[in-house]
Amino acid sequence: MSIKQVAIIGLGLLGGSVGLAVEEHADGISTKGYDRNPDVRARAVERGLVGTVCDTAAQAVSDADLVILCVPVGAMEAAAAEIGPYLKNSAIISDVGSSKESVAKALTKALPGHTIIPAHPVAGTEQSGPEAGFASLFTNRWCILTPPEGADEAAVAALSQFWTKLGAKVELMDAGHHDVVLAVTSHIPHLIAYTIVGTASDLEEVTRSEVIKYSAGGFRDFTRIAASDPVMWRDVFLNNKGAVLEVLGRFTEDLTALQRAIRSGDGDTLHDLFSRTRAIRREVIDQGQDDERPDFGRKDHS
Ligand code: NAP
Repeated sequence: MSIKQVAIIGLGLLGGSVGLAVEEHADGISTKGYDRNPDVRARAVERGLVGTVCDTAAQAVSDADLVILCVPVGAMEAAAAEIGPYLKNSAIISDVGSSKESVAKALTKALPGHTIIPAHPVAGTEQSGPEAGFASLFTNRWCILTPPEGADEAAVAALSQFWTKLGAKVELMDAGHHDVVLAVTSHIPHLIAYTIVGTASDLEEVTRSEVIKYSAGGFRDFTRIAASDPVMWRDVFLNNKGAVLEVLGRFTEDLTALQRAIRSGDGDTLHDLFSRTRAIRREVIDQGQDDERPDFGRKDHS
């Protein structure tokens, strides 16, 4: 199964980056794209995010071997339903959504009988929209495919090969397991950042200008994450509810234990935890998932 024509629906950070990465890394593959927002389509033409920007989703997908839905997870079902009547029978339908069980359900409902292989490139930034994409977003990042049981093996192989061409490392995973793993590594960290930034701005005894002025004490690192797209993240929490609530329960227990350690002056507990977490940071760096650059993974360093 060979992929020669790719349709990208949604031309924001992810869709734009897929288009630019195909142009840069995948000779012989052409792209068409569509976004429901005409201003985004106009900017996509100016930036050359895809080979052809189409005025309808139907035009974008009609000759596509692979369709990648790059819209917020809450919009997947509507976006899929819109393209249904225009797809080639042989087309592979995939996506880049941050939660996988709910997206698999939405796509299966909207496109019964089609070859659906959900995917999640674990790569992104706090930016969104058509300005935000760049060709090296996926370089050396993981792309997790969550094929349903009995999925067409040739389609899974073709999609894996596609993401590998874009520079990603591909892993296959069960959708439910993906959702728990990402709740731990991405969704809860975002929720914590949103909370602490919200709490700081609501405190009565510390002024907002003090919070901003002294933000280098740690707060500013949370503000980057808490600046992420509100629509995308609203949808992630509504669509990965079970896994997020489960992991949040564990987090709350651990936070309460730390609270107790501070109250009772239990320095050993604090020191042990902080030593363990420091070692985890070293592992993240050793595995190439971050480095000392403050803009690691967020700018085009290619
Ligand atoms: P984005 O920059 O906001 O782009 C999404 C684009 O899709 C917007 O232009 C939006 O238009 C458009 N859109 C929404 N519904 C549509 C529809 N039915 N048909 C056509 N276009 C539609 O978002 P993003 O950051 O690229 O995120 C896209 C997906 O990637 C999400 O599912 C997200 O979970 C996933 N993801 C994001 C990251 C990240 O770090 N950002 C990382 C990995 C995966 P409007 O503005 O008019 O709604």
